[in-house]
Amino acid sequence: MPETNVERCEVCGNHAVVPRRVSDSLIRECEFCGNMEGPTDLVELLELQREAEELGCSEHSYPLAKFIDNLPGVKLLGDSGGSRKLGTMPFVAFELTDHRTWQLENLGQSMRLMRTELSREWMIEFTIDYQLGFELRTRPDGRKSHDPNEIESARRDLLLIWRKLQGYSNLSWWKQG
Ligand SMILES: [Zn+2]
Repeated sequence: MPETNVERCEVCGNHAVVPRRVSDSLIRECEFCGNMEGPTDLVELLELQREAEELGCSEHSYPLAKFIDNLPGVKLLGDSGGSRKLGTMPFVAFELTDHRTWQLENLGQSMRLMRTELSREWMIEFTIDYQLGFELRTRPDGRKSHDPNEIESARRDLLLIWRKLQGYSNLSWWKQG
């Protein structure tokens, strides 16, 4: 077989590139160095999910949690991608380290704008566990346990929220400080 027909890795040059189908798109992943090629959005997500796995974080909440943690004046307090086993829903908890509300306004406005596109009802709850601590979570309905479908739809929401925030943070209404 001529060399041109063999998939070569752009990074390490190894002939170990295997195609992987991820949510209807094709990603080519090098089995040797882990380099991924494909749609930029998807590669970014897969790299974050891989990062989450290495850090022992939830792949479902990690992209959004990292985005929130990177906002100036905001510090991540904790996050969960939910647990199918325990029936718990995902959340992202953060605090306002600069004691100002501008990032809360950014997040609040964002949640308002994307509300109709999300499958669950989300809220930003003030938590008394921390000074100026907040939790982005689904609205509680009194039940302690949630079924897997609810948890999965909330997980999809987490990724959509993350994507939307990436876009919104470049818009003119997003407060830059
Ligand atoms: Zn490679």
